[in-house]
Amino acid sequence: MGKIRYFIALWAAKLVYLLLRVLGRNATMYPGYIALKLCPDYLGRTKKSPHVICVTGTNGKTTTTNMIADILSECGMNIVSNRYGSNINTGVATALTHSVNVFGKPKIDALVLEVDERFSRLILPFIKPDYLVVTNLFRDSLKRNAHPEYIFSILDTYVPETTRLVLNADCLQSSQLLKKNERVYFGIDRLDTDVTECVNLINDFSICPVCDEKLEFNYLRYHHIGNAYCPKCGFKSFDAQYRLTNIDYENKTITVKHGDTEDVYPMVNRAIYNIYNELAAITVLSEFGADKEKVMAHMNSISVTQTRYKELKAGKTEVIRTMAKGQNSVSCSRTLDFVGNESGPRTVFIMVDDLFERRDSSEFMGWIYDADFEFLNSPDIRQIVVAGPRCFDYKLRLRIAGISEDVILCEEDEFKAVDIMDKDIDKLYLLHDTSTYDLACKVEEKIVTVFTQAQNAKGGEQ
Ligand SMILES: [Zn+2]
Repeated sequence: MGKIRYFIALWAAKLVYLLLRVLGRNATMYPGYIALKLCPDYLGRTKKSPHVICVTGTNGKTTTTNMIADILSECGMNIVSNRYGSNINTGVATALTHSVNVFGKPKIDALVLEVDERFSRLILPFIKPDYLVVTNLFRDSLKRNAHPEYIFSILDTYVPETTRLVLNADCLQSSQLLKKNERVYFGIDRLDTDVTECVNLINDFSICPVCDEKLEFNYLRYHHIGNAYCPKCGFKSFDAQYRLTNIDYENKTITVKHGDTEDVYPMVNRAIYNIYNELAAITVLSEFGADKEKVMAHMNSISVTQTRYKELKAGKTEVIRTMAKGQNSVSCSRTLDFVGNESGPRTVFIMVDDLFERRDSSEFMGWIYDADFEFLNSPDIRQIVVAGPRCFDYKLRLRIAGISEDVILCEEDEFKAVDIMDKDIDKLYLLHDTSTYDLACKVEEKIVTVFTQAQNAKGGEQ
């Protein structure tokens, strides 16, 4: 009976997918939704591809998953991934539907899935991945994810014992997961910019998990990312088997040491959090047995997906559009740190309104007081534009960060903000949320037009 139900669900999901595609819809979630409605154990019943790699964690899942899927595809493997879809159970069920033929037989070489950490209990026990990459565990939206230890307990309970883990040795939280499972660690050696005392507003791992003593840090990168030890009981960070030993920003390369071998890979993106994502991808691909030369060659040709990061020119101004996730104070702080540490005179345009959140209820703005807007308090940052319905909240937050009123341009209408902002600047950082991505693309288009015109007119005058 279960088998019949499964096949009805599979065929219905495939049919719904075809119909939605004919209608021009994305169809990333609904086929899986139907499949799970008709057959609640659909994920467990679907025959698995020869290889299953999953990626979870608070930040960097999408970027890491896409890198792994892109490179395995470039290496000639037939892949299904949920890159354009959802990372919860319905999205995973849709991806599984694509991985088998109408008889339920696997038709691909490998399944590469991004898995939402909160939904992992509904996914991982059933699809039993061969590898699970955990990028990190941080404080996320308080409304959705509560405390990071709550997410830790979900993963620690529901990841199957047979799954091999790829963990971040520098993340004190996620590196402690699932002590019984086979594992390999990646990490980045001490950097010149590291400190030994936390400068961030949030550090969710400052106490020894064994004896409660305050931890000491050999080096601390941001929040609880670093290398720590307990002065009392001997607890310490794990050693990384894949160590990033050098970052060459000029030649855009990173050096990764594994055993006695040191390899130089192209740097996909210079933001440190994206270097972590690349290192996580290199580690799992190496463990998986992917051809190292091919991985190196293909790393050269891939980029962080344009919905997350894009560089372009608006006249003489270099525009860098990058995501700063709303409701997620740590992820947003990483972007603010990146923008704050860039060099030269620059403008920052912030449009991080969580429209999705606002649709059903009032948007929670408390998270901006956990995010490190202080990183924007720099003399090189000449103007900060806060635009959108929540601009006054952002203005208040910037004032609390000690930023002068003269630097802040506060405007509810994002397009009007472009008209009135200063256009004589070398670099502009446009920060948006996942739900303001489409709007940010339109604002970016206007920036290109308006900046080019203004700079040409100014050039004509001279
Ligand atoms: Zn201790």
